[in-house]
Amino acid sequence: ERRRLEALIGEPAATRDGVSVRLEANLELPGEAETAMRNGADGVGLFRTEFLFMNRDDAPSEDEQYEVLAAVVSAMKGRPVTIRTIDVGGEKLSYALGNDIGTSANPALGLRAIRLSLKRPKLLETQLCAILRASALGPVRILLPMITTAQEVRKVRDIMTRMIRRLRRRGVELPETPPPLGVMIEVPGAALAADALAQVSDFFALGTNDLTQYTLAIDRSDDQVAHLYNPLHPGVLRLMDFTIQAALRARIPVSVCGEIAGDPALTALLLGLGVRDLSMAATALLRVKQRLRQIEFTSAAARARMVLESHDAVRTRMLLEDLNGLV
Ligand code: PEP
Ligand code: MG
Repeated sequence: ERRRLEALIGEPAATRDGVSVRLEANLELPGEAETAMRNGADGVGLFRTEFLFMNRDDAPSEDEQYEVLAAVVSAMKGRPVTIRTIDVGGEKLSYALGNDIGTSANPALGLRAIRLSLKRPKLLETQLCAILRASALGPVRILLPMITTAQEVRKVRDIMTRMIRRLRRRGVELPETPPPLGVMIEVPGAALAADALAQVSDFFALGTNDLTQYTLAIDRSDDQVAHLYNPLHPGVLRLMDFTIQAALRARIPVSVCGEIAGDPALTALLLGLGVRDLSMAATALLRVKQRLRQIEFTSAAARARMVLESHDAVRTRMLLEDLNGLV
């Protein structure tokens, strides 16, 4: 089985009827870039930077962040690297940023991710400078977590423009065009306002882990309600569909980088919904590619619509089995 998967490394990621899909890697630690390359990743669709702030009691300097990001950008050898600004708070805690994070009654709804970055602009400025410097070494995209309003994106873009000027004044050579600035769509309100967010964003990344948590009001790390956590709930699927359609209309790229992107049983569904970019754990890449190469896109698209219109979980599961049985 492993040999069969490894034989796919150099093969194109496309359906039987020739629809190409980008298969990218999610990284939680820089060392995983090597696994991503070994498994033929088309790039890094999500580089989580929380590790930089974990297990320490001071925030990392610009140089320290730059070294780590630069190593990953170089390791990816010209393939795009999507770097997400810090996403602490909620279930992701960091003591390096002080002990006022995660202490509110509802940390998942509190000061986290982009909200924290905008409240502490120095933190964001340092991180943006490190990312911008790394963008001189290869294609880089900047991704913002937990965005809910266009205003947040505009604020970050202003700060980014300011940091580019600051770095140039310091004599740092940067590419002529700034890195694309994209947003995670992982809050239901953001999904429903996707058309407005598309006006200020260069790309979308659908964070279905949090989108499921917030849409269904199910804490993603609470075992007692884990059986109710369902990314295929019609409410979640409709928000995904709305987001994808808004991105297609605005002609900006949209990827899925939640856990479901790495599940081969859902590849046909995601393709059918219009997604052409999936980002997943590096270890899932080949299995998804194997599945992708069996799919007949034209029939997947029609069946995906039926899944979307299904009102109950049992029928959804049946339709999915049907969709996967088509090959
Ligand atoms: C998500 O929410 O789906 C996501 C990809 O981000 P994270 O799992 O890091 O919250
Ligand atoms: Mg998330």
